[in-house]
Amino acid sequence: MQNIYNLTRKQLQEYFVSHQDKKFRGDQVFEWLYRKRVSSFQEMTNLKKEVIADLEENFTMKTVEITKIEKDIDVQKYLFRLIDGEKVEAVLMNHDYGNSVCISTEVGCNMGCKFCESGRLKKVRNLETHEMVEQILEIEKENQVRISHVVVMGIGEPFDNYDNLISFIEIVNDDLGIALGSRHITVSTCGIVPKIQEFQELPYQVNLAISLHAPNNEIRNQIMPINKKYPIEVLMETLKAYIKKTNRRVTFEYILLDGINDRKQDAQALADLVRGMNCYINLIPYNETNNISLKRSKKETIFAFYDILKKNKINATIRKEFGSKISAACGQLRSKKEENDGIILHN
Ligand code: SAH
Repeated sequence: MQNIYNLTRKQLQEYFVSHQDKKFRGDQVFEWLYRKRVSSFQEMTNLKKEVIADLEENFTMKTVEITKIEKDIDVQKYLFRLIDGEKVEAVLMNHDYGNSVCISTEVGCNMGCKFCESGRLKKVRNLETHEMVEQILEIEKENQVRISHVVVMGIGEPFDNYDNLISFIEIVNDDLGIALGSRHITVSTCGIVPKIQEFQELPYQVNLAISLHAPNNEIRNQIMPINKKYPIEVLMETLKAYIKKTNRRVTFEYILLDGINDRKQDAQALADLVRGMNCYINLIPYNETNNISLKRSKKETIFAFYDILKKNKINATIRKEFGSKISAACGQLRSKKEENDGIILHN
């Protein structure tokens, strides 16, 4: 049996057409799921009994459950239990411009970035589309809020679960679905070149963020194994083509790691690397974790790094810090195995 939240509206329309019904039935069901947010097929009261029976026979509904919530000022971390008992996390951030949620795409991750907690557990499996969609639905329901922005930056490498990611984006972006404008959706990748090339062919205006974290192969090879497969010059050429094709600005994420990638010459090399590209650089103070010995750069170093980029007329910001107290910050999310119910409040 298929989960109904796996299907895009187009797939649902096709389902009904292939079941001797009208395309329009797909829109109706989609509206029940995402506009009216019903929790059973029985509640779809404008459908005939036979249609409801057919849906009940062929589809399951929600399976993802919140098992733990941790709260800090303006940020909440959710632990979800999946149907097979696996766990993933998502984070809700209350910004002045709206509510943004950071969702996971995989249980574990195979990319092996040296600085990232999420990748310490190898990928157990991809999340299905419905498991990504449900993270949003559950958080909205729990908080009675409307989410305005989605960032795909939680556990997992989204481009290593490409097809499910694309269906997810389609549902989030659909006017009858979660209905977020594509500019309110951001996908972050460590740089899987062939998928960036595929992504640029899609009609969505979704933001693309690249986890760069180093200005050259020497440093990047040390901290991001993916760089051995797609070295920096290949990645940059790919991104130049992406920008040309889509006319969109790319974001580079750059974690500042003490003594690794935060020297003045690294800042200069980074400025030289991106010069002339339609991009901006998000400098991220590293969130330290108990299990990884890497350290955050000193404040003065972070500002000095930023100043060099600015002197070179490169757009850059230093990321506002969010959620490090409850390990909800970038790179601190984990696929926890242990059972852990209840709500923990941090103030
Ligand atoms: N796999 C995707 C998305 C998940 S990581 C990617 O690589 O982009 C989301 C962002 O958090 C990435 O830029 C990642 O490099 C960064 N990150 C990982 N660990 C971090 C940490 N401990 N502190 C700050 N940022 C971290």
